[in-house]
Amino acid sequence: MSTATTEKHVFQAEIQQLLDLVVHSLYTDKDIFLRELISNASDSMEKVRHLEGTEKHFKDAGEELQITLEANKDAGTVTLTDRGIGMTREELIENLGTIAHSGTKAFLEQIKANGGSSSGLIGQFGVGFYSAFMVADKVEVFSRSWKEDAESLRWESDGKTGYEIEPVDELPRGVKIVLHLNEASKEFADDFRIKGLIQRYSNFVGFPILIEGKRVNEVEALWLKNKSEITDEEYKAFYQFACKGFDDPTYRLHFSADAPITINALIFTPGENPEKTGFGKVDGGVALYCKKVLIDPEPKGLLPEWLRFVKGVVDSADLPLNISRETMQDSALVRKLNGVITKRIIKMFEKEASADPAKYRDFYKKFERFFKEGIATDYSNKDALAKLLRFETSMTEAGEVCSLTDYAGRVKDGQDKIYYLIGSNRDQIESGPYIEAFKARGLEVIYFMDAVDEYVVDSLGEFEGKKLVSVRHAGVELDDVDSDADGLSEEQVNALCEFLKTELGEKVTKVSSGKRLVESPVIALVPEDGMSPQVRQMMKAMDENFKDEVKVELEINPRHALIKKLSETRESHPEVAKLVAAQMLDNALISAGLLDDAREMIRRMNALMEKAMQ
Ligand code: ADP
Repeated sequence: MSTATTEKHVFQAEIQQLLDLVVHSLYTDKDIFLRELISNASDSMEKVRHLEGTEKHFKDAGEELQITLEANKDAGTVTLTDRGIGMTREELIENLGTIAHSGTKAFLEQIKANGGSSSGLIGQFGVGFYSAFMVADKVEVFSRSWKEDAESLRWESDGKTGYEIEPVDELPRGVKIVLHLNEASKEFADDFRIKGLIQRYSNFVGFPILIEGKRVNEVEALWLKNKSEITDEEYKAFYQFACKGFDDPTYRLHFSADAPITINALIFTPGENPEKTGFGKVDGGVALYCKKVLIDPEPKGLLPEWLRFVKGVVDSADLPLNISRETMQDSALVRKLNGVITKRIIKMFEKEASADPAKYRDFYKKFERFFKEGIATDYSNKDALAKLLRFETSMTEAGEVCSLTDYAGRVKDGQDKIYYLIGSNRDQIESGPYIEAFKARGLEVIYFMDAVDEYVVDSLGEFEGKKLVSVRHAGVELDDVDSDADGLSEEQVNALCEFLKTELGEKVTKVSSGKRLVESPVIALVPEDGMSPQVRQMMKAMDENFKDEVKVELEINPRHALIKKLSETRESHPEVAKLVAAQMLDNALISAGLLDDAREMIRRMNALMEKAMQ
């Protein structure tokens, strides 16, 4: 109701433009109006705290620094009261009627720079107070500034063209905002509903928020406290209550940084892998805050996908409160946060692993797949992640593990490769013919025994300049090794190789004598770019018509009794020699996991047995 002392004002043209945007297109999620108003109230009370310490003239009537909320169903209103610094008449005009303050100004400047279009910019800038008009068709602001002899005032607007200001009876210091909810937003005139909004978005605000005299935000913003003031129990309680962790956390990382961006972060790794028990992929568990106010409980792009198992909070004062979910992933700030936090988390794992290897091993057993996914998908962190891998090798005891760094630290002089073999278990790997040559030369071979390791090795390619090489591959050069056993002469070897190549035809690309073998007569080597037995198995399982001509290179051991015997038999009993040649290839293919159809082999075995008994 206007009186003689009522001042009428028209919004600046830009504010009208802004209001129009706010109401019609700015927010996809109108829930957040309360968060914006609570955030303003909290900022204002922070300023009171500051004034108490710095301003001689600051008079305090003993007001409690708290926020009260009241929902009135009948009147269709929500009222929010704070005991902050309040606003004078000039400040009401300046703050709620012009674009003097930075967030809004920057927003509109961007729109102008964009040729008047707001698309792509929406949500990147703070428009705080004006979000009240998303849910209200009339907003009243009662205000009294902390300044001496400040007027008690009422500001009112319908959020369309202008506002009015009039003096009212004496008010306590601070601001009271009354939202007269519009038809579509009446649901908010409900204690239960607004309590839910507070717990979702404003649970960690540093002042009590009261509804009906009861505090509804109960959790402290632990991440902003000093590490030395927090007990393990408090950390654990925070993990379980605030991060909804259902177990005991294994590791935690609590840090703050100022450059290149302000960060306060508190991150936990859970005790159990939530994806292991068959629940499928989990959503990210690290929420994003700006000065204790929730921006997004599951922000996209804050952390790489492979870190979805960690839980916690990241708070950055540099973020605009209104950064929208849609623009989150494209935001340079969020990318910066991602870079810094991910590196810190990886560092944390590295430190924990060396501080307590046994604990890390247990953790690793449950979570290794995430690290491996990271190596395959997160290019920028691949090398750092490689250091977190653990595996058995030909030099570890069964069940003991080591890292690539351990391996690299004990390679023989001049060894510029890292040797590995993929297989399903240690016994299977060690009983095959591939390892013996490396063992005989004291070369360590990594045993990769997880179904996904193949992709990990492919993605990794090398570690600290040393190429990862499968011992199954042809073309691995090995030094001579002393051997007491007499072998065939060069001439005999050449003749035998020629014989075998003729007999085996297209099935082998090459037959040669090699230095690899000690105890086995032959070995099948696959080309470096060929399909591995693991991948072949998978293809076969998926497609019953899958056919892949296996072409291998055969290497013979000229010191082996069977080979020497074959060299003689080739001339004395060519019929038997032919059967033995074919059987030797099949044996090598079985060892390599590459024999698809054993029917022909069985017929041949029968023929061989018959001959052996003659
Ligand atoms: P922002 O908070 O991003 O500056 P707002 O539109 O939310 O933008 O608020 C504009 C200004 O109005 C604030 O900067 C502050 O000076 C003032 N203001 C808003 N709410 C309050 C309040 N509850 N108490 C005191 N001042 C306030």
